[in-house]
Amino acid sequence: MDSRRFLAGSVAAALIIVAAAVVTAQQPLGPAVDLILTNGKIITVDEKFTIAQALAVRGNRIVAVGTNQQISQMGAPTTRRIDLRGRAVVPGLIDNHMHLLRAGTTWTREVRFDGVESRRQALDMVAARAKTVSPGDWVYNIGGWSVDQFADSRSRFTREELDRIAPNNPVALQESYYRTYLNSRGLEAFAIRDGAPDPADFPKGSIVRDGSGRATGIVEGGMGAVRAIAAKMPRVAANEVEASSLAMIKDMNRAGLTAFGVAGCDPALLPMYRKWEAQHQLNVRIFCIDGVGAGTPEQVERALPQIANIKLFQGDDFIDSVLYGESVYGPLHDPMFDSMSDPKPDQLAQWRRLATEVAKNRLPLHVHAELTHTIDAFLDQIEAINKVYPVKNLRWMLAHFNQSNAVQLERMKRLGMYAAVHPWNVINGGIMHEIFGDDAYEQPPLATIQASGIMWGFGSDGSAANQYMPFITLNYAVTGKMSSGLKVMRQTISREDALIAYTRRNAFFVFQEDNLGALQPGKLADLIVLDRDYLTIPADQIKDIKPVLTMVDGRIVYDASTANGTR
Ligand SMILES: [Zn+2]
Repeated sequence: MDSRRFLAGSVAAALIIVAAAVVTAQQPLGPAVDLILTNGKIITVDEKFTIAQALAVRGNRIVAVGTNQQISQMGAPTTRRIDLRGRAVVPGLIDNHMHLLRAGTTWTREVRFDGVESRRQALDMVAARAKTVSPGDWVYNIGGWSVDQFADSRSRFTREELDRIAPNNPVALQESYYRTYLNSRGLEAFAIRDGAPDPADFPKGSIVRDGSGRATGIVEGGMGAVRAIAAKMPRVAANEVEASSLAMIKDMNRAGLTAFGVAGCDPALLPMYRKWEAQHQLNVRIFCIDGVGAGTPEQVERALPQIANIKLFQGDDFIDSVLYGESVYGPLHDPMFDSMSDPKPDQLAQWRRLATEVAKNRLPLHVHAELTHTIDAFLDQIEAINKVYPVKNLRWMLAHFNQSNAVQLERMKRLGMYAAVHPWNVINGGIMHEIFGDDAYEQPPLATIQASGIMWGFGSDGSAANQYMPFITLNYAVTGKMSSGLKVMRQTISREDALIAYTRRNAFFVFQEDNLGALQPGKLADLIVLDRDYLTIPADQIKDIKPVLTMVDGRIVYDASTANGTR
């Protein structure tokens, strides 16, 4: 062989290798990338909270994150390019606890007040709905708001004003799980009459009357009364459940949400979601939190063998069952707005039998635990269980967790437990302050939770107990304020920590940390482009952030420039 030719050949080969190495550094070998986002502020929420300029997607996954120059040259003629024009991008937001599937069965029938900051606008929405439905049809909502979120006036709704705007329809507006406002037609539908005794199915004293015995339209008395009314509200017709659920998913995408821990996945509803997944049309990811209901010792007896048979993780990265919850033993499920709990030893014994079975079968646990005595009592039980069946690495978490404290956090850290935090104050701040006084300023103690170093993530507990919009919750976490500006919580945290709790932490909580929660090569392309920069705008404006584009699995599922409607 001619030595000169050999040399030239090896130089050429070496050059090819060098060239290949350069390409490899920026672009894994394989077909061209499908989508490139450049000229943005990519808030990756990776472990170092890296900020990048550009990002490339192939198929349903992110393949590269870097500078404009690095990412631009990965494009092929077939690559779709989006110029972000400086806009901020964050990972698709994950709510670790929402009653999503249930909400879909009423969504389009409800007049939802989530994110509505004006009492006037709320009334206009009721009036508009009354004009579009038939006379006699219910105009209603089931929670997700309170009058304290309104910036123009926080006064309660009156029977008279609801009569004025909806004279021909019964109206029931449910304020969180605390209070329901009825108009005259609504009162009539429940046989609540002026000057007559209360109907027997309402808790004593729950129907508020004026001095003359006339019903004011307000029904109080906690969850018992509120739920009794909600149960009578019409669900969407069977042939409209699909359309209602799709409309709800669209609203979630519009708000920047792309994945959920779903409390209660009704087996009657799941096939519909599976069908959408098979058609590549499911635009949110659903990770179910389900358990075996038990409220008596006999039911516990029946539940134990069922727990042993539970099989989680049989699904995929769109629909899966991942956690046991959210209730373990019914009598120890703290009712919302109770001021104090008093867990009894015999109840805790039943709770422990069930939780022991969960631990023995190495199932992850996500358990409703709200009031401080309940949290203490559950931790006593878990510490005992842990001696026989260690719970570390099982991803056991206490959920809601508003009345928690530093001592409990230390106990949980020692057990290797986590906190799924659902700040009820976001819409219930006024109500919580009514019940707990100044203690409500520390509910939840967000800064204490953050400082403890425990793994924790955000959820809403929507759609009845709370509103669902993440930027309203993030605004609250950073400022301590409700959307009305009312300061209701003192333990604020940084924007970065709040965002991590809505993304990377929740990916871990739904067992998707390899796929979701940060914008990194190899992860699924779930992201949102924001209309303003979450990290730099005045904190009070975080609630006003609107996604302009939402992507799930590499598909654009919401685009503000083409979407209909204003909210
Ligand atoms: Zn709950």
